[in-house]
Amino acid sequence: MDEACAKVDELLSGYLDRELTQKDRQQVDLHLESCARCTARLREFDSLSTSVGRLRDEMDPEDRERWRKVMDNAFDRTLRGIGWLLLVGAVLLLVGYGGYEFILSDVEPPFVKWAVGAVYLGLAVQLLSVLRQRLSASKTDKYKDVEI
Ligand SMILES: [Zn+2]
Repeated sequence: MDEACAKVDELLSGYLDRELTQKDRQQVDLHLESCARCTARLREFDSLSTSVGRLRDEMDPEDRERWRKVMDNAFDRTLRGIGWLLLVGAVLLLVGYGGYEFILSDVEPPFVKWAVGAVYLGLAVQLLSVLRQRLSASKTDKYKDVEI
């Protein structure tokens, strides 16, 4: 590639975007008249940037806004999901460990053990029913936020 072609190569994208000074532009025009290689390259560049531009134009602003909202929403939901998972996991771990230790220990009077066991069972049932609700709610309406 000779020096003139290298220079035109550098200016080509600016040439297409009409960002060149008049002097640079004339220089490129002049070179293109006599150089088949750079003319071909310009055409290549041109079709590339046209297809990129078309892709961008195909999404009208309203669509783009809607798309952005969907993405934001998905991100929020994922974060919230991770938060819940951590919370529920940690609580289950602590409660499970606490309950395990408690059952193994000697507590007087013995009915305290039964009472605490019942509390645990109650919590477990609550948790299960909430999970079930969330599951069926997210199945029927994916775009509705479900809060516990
Ligand atoms: Zn050239």
